[in-house]
Order: sequence, then structure tokens, then C-alpha cells
Amino acid sequence: MTVAIVGAGLAGSLLTCFLARRGVPVTLYERRPDPREQQAERGRSINLAISERGLDALRRIGLADKVMADALPMKGRMIHPVEGPLDFQQYSVSGDRAINSISRGALNNALLDAAAAAPGVEIRFEHRLVGLDPKTARMTFETPDRTVEAESDVVLGTDGAGSAVRGRLVADHLVDEAVDFLDYGYKELTIPPAAGAFALDPGALHIWPRGTSMMIALPNPDRSFTCTLFWPNGSFPALDTPAAIEDHFRTHYPDVVPLAPDLVDDYQQNPIGVLGTVHTAPWQAFGRVGLLGDAAHAIVPFYGQGANCAFEDVVELDRCLEDSDGEWARALPLFELRRRENTEAIAEMALANFVEMRDKVASPVFRLGKRIEHALERALPGHYASRYELVSFSTTPYAEVQQRVRRQHQALAGVVLLAGLGLVGLTRRLLR
Ligand SMILES: Cc1cc2nc3c(=O)[nH]c(=O)nc-3n(C[C@H](O)[C@H](O)[C@H](O)COP(=O)(O)OP(=O)(O)OC[C@H]3O[C@@H](n4cnc5c(N)ncnc54)[C@H](O)[C@@H]3O)c2cc1C
Repeated sequence: MTVAIVGAGLAGSLLTCFLARRGVPVTLYERRPDPREQQAERGRSINLAISERGLDALRRIGLADKVMADALPMKGRMIHPVEGPLDFQQYSVSGDRAINSISRGALNNALLDAAAAAPGVEIRFEHRLVGLDPKTARMTFETPDRTVEAESDVVLGTDGAGSAVRGRLVADHLVDEAVDFLDYGYKELTIPPAAGAFALDPGALHIWPRGTSMMIALPNPDRSFTCTLFWPNGSFPALDTPAAIEDHFRTHYPDVVPLAPDLVDDYQQNPIGVLGTVHTAPWQAFGRVGLLGDAAHAIVPFYGQGANCAFEDVVELDRCLEDSDGEWARALPLFELRRRENTEAIAEMALANFVEMRDKVASPVFRLGKRIEHALERALPGHYASRYELVSFSTTPYAEVQQRVRRQHQALAGVVLLAGLGLVGLTRRLLR
């Protein structure tokens, strides 16, 4: 039984490690050259936040400590208003739980090193999948100098949001897909170290909430920050001169301007990224071609969960193989059955978190709500937990998180209503 994995990104290289551990021979195909020998692409999601779900997967293959060695823990959000003081909002009630900023490239390289060292694994870089017969699992790849045919018993597509494997399944009417593009794009900018030190607090995820636009910044091990500016599509080209760019940032992000000497150059040179949610059904065909990670269910990045979720996919698929005695024809449908409601739940929560980050985090009502939430978590340990806590600091299935938070909100609304009625009764009695 041989397995071909298409896409040596985060999900594909982790999956290779998990399958190799089960003694499954794997050939991992990747369209890019070996990233361990290359510079990272300019302006393309340089770092990401890994939280409990991702760490849980890495621990299972003994990689968590290595990856965490260079991680920068972020214990809360630092809100940057246009004017006035910064506002730090801790993520957890105890204040000590953190999400971790890590280099995407370093994580991918660590996973590739582990995959390459595992027995039975072959990695073929510069192999772009361009053809696939889902019935026979025959694949066609383009390499820099020729076209290559390959066969495998099972083909797994971990080739990201624009998946070619998914594209082939859709073309053969075996899978339906819907891509909901967000009306926002993103651009990455850099805040370099200031005199060798971090220019902002590296213990926080920085947010500049501006209603229709939003910027965030995560720290990097070289003491720089990568900022990501999210803005409605069509807005970026409107700033078409250095003066217009500087003016805009001076007005809306005044504290960033002195910290980002290459702002104009970054803005002009870095690409505009596309954001969206991918819905696909089913995730497999003939029990031998499957999709996971972004290829099956890409989400918007506002909960910092896409990679965490893709890593959880790998853990779940491994579990399904265990429960199906290694039979792929049973494991792939079982994986979809167990996992789909969870990926749909995080897709919804990620969209909702965008509204929270760009519109609400700066408002006094939001801050009060968070304080009440933390007070409830403190008063009712084990009974009340915030959505953020459950998503980022637990492995509670996403769908359960959504249901539990809904129940908590209903209960809370009931308590508020009863308290309100009590107050009305009391007022009436006092007025009598
Ligand atoms: C701006 C931004 C910020 C984000 N921040 C976070 C965050 O903080 N936390 C988090 O958990 N997630 C975050 N994400 C989401 C995360 O990046 C993705 O969910 C994650 O990378 C998905 O992993 P994947 O392996 O499924 O796909 P990818 O990482 O996209 O990997 C796909 C791989 O397949 C290869 N490939 C593509 N087509 C072919 C082909 N035809 N043949 C061969 N190979 C191919 C690609 O080269 C690539 O190596 C963010 C995303 C964005 C856009």
C-alpha cells in the first residue's frame, strides 16, 4: 500500500510524518523547490500563531519542543487606538496562557526535516501536479524539464486553498466546491528592530482596529514585527504615490510610521493576498483520493486557526486509520464524517472574529464584556469558558465549542433577564 501526498506545506509534511510512523510508504510531491534551500517569498504570511491544537499534533511526533524553541508567546492583544494609550487585553483569565508566534518557513522546514528523516519517505520537489485520474490514482506532474507520470494506491491532496487535486475532482464531477471570497485583501509590512530591540511589546498580538480596515502585527525571532493590513478589495491601489501612502498611515496608523522606515517600499512591492472560505463536499472519491487541510476547507485567518485546524485534521485522519485497521476506503469517509462539522464551525467562528477584531475590540462595551467573561471564568471554573479560551487553549472539538458557547450565552441572557425582572420587581416595591 503506497500513499502519494501532493503538497509539502504544513499539512502535507506533518501528515507524511504521521503516516511514516504507521509504517506507510509515502511519496511527498511539492511544486516548489526545497524551501530549506531558499529564501522566504516576499510579503507572504511570514509568521503565524500556533496554539494548543497545533502544539498537540506536534507533541505527538516529538516536534513541539523544537518548534517552540524559537516561538514568541503572545499573552494577549495590544490595542492601538488612533490617539491615546495602548490597551492590553489578556487572552486567558489567568493571564499566563499564550498563542505563539512562529516562523511559517521554520515550521515547514522542521516538518520537512522530520519527514525526510522518516523511514519509507521520498520527497520530490519541483513536481507540480497537473493531472489526476481519481479512479486509477494515476498522477501527472510537471517538473522543470519534463512531464512525469506516477501511480499510487492512495492520493492525498494537501495542496492548499487553490488545490489542484480538488480541481481534478471537481472537473470530474466527483466533488462540489464553493469558494466564498472575502471582500478584503491583505498586504504585509515590516516593523524592523529598533536599535537591535523589539520596537513594540513582543508579548502581545498587536491590533489597530479601524472599522473598515484593520492591521495586526506579530513578533519574529529576529526582533522585527510582520504587520498584516486587511482592507476592502480595491482600496490598496488607491494609495498610488509615496505621499498618499505616508499620509494615509499618518492619519490612521500614526504610531506605526516612525517604526516602519520601509513602509512605502513594502506597500508598493508586496503583493495583495486574497482571503476566502473554501467549502468542499465530499472530501474523498473512491476511498482512494482524499483532501485535507486548506485543500478541503480553507478559512479566513482571523482566529489564527487555519494551520492549527489542518494539523488537527492530520491527528484525526491518523485516528480514523487506526479505527479502520489501516483501510483507506473506510478511513477517508470516516474522517469526513467526524471532521466536517468541526471545520464548518471554525470557518464560521473565524469570520465572526474578523468583525470582533476590526470593529469591537476597541469599544468600552467589548472591554466590559471581556471583564465579565473573565470574572465568570474565575467564579465558575470548569463551567464557564470563553470562546477564545476553548478555541485557542483546548482541543475541544470546534463544533462543541460553538454549541457550548451558545448554551453559555443563553444561560447568561437568562440570568440577566431574571436579574432585570428582579430589579423591576424591587423598583416597583420601592415605589409603592
Ligand atoms: C495572512 C494569513 C495569516 C495566517 N495566519 C495563521 C495563523 O496565525 N495561525 C494559523 O493556524 N493559520 C494561519 N493561516 C492559515 C494557514 O496559513 C493555512 O491554514 C495553512 O498554511 C494550511 O496548510 P496546508 O498545508 O493545508 O496548505 P499550504 O500551507 O498552503 O500548503 C500547500 C502546499 O501545496 C503546494 N502545492 C500547491 N499546489 C500544488 C501542486 N499543484 N502540486 C504540488 N504541490 C502543490 C504549495 O506549494 C504548498 O507547499 C494564515 C493564512 C493567511 C493567508
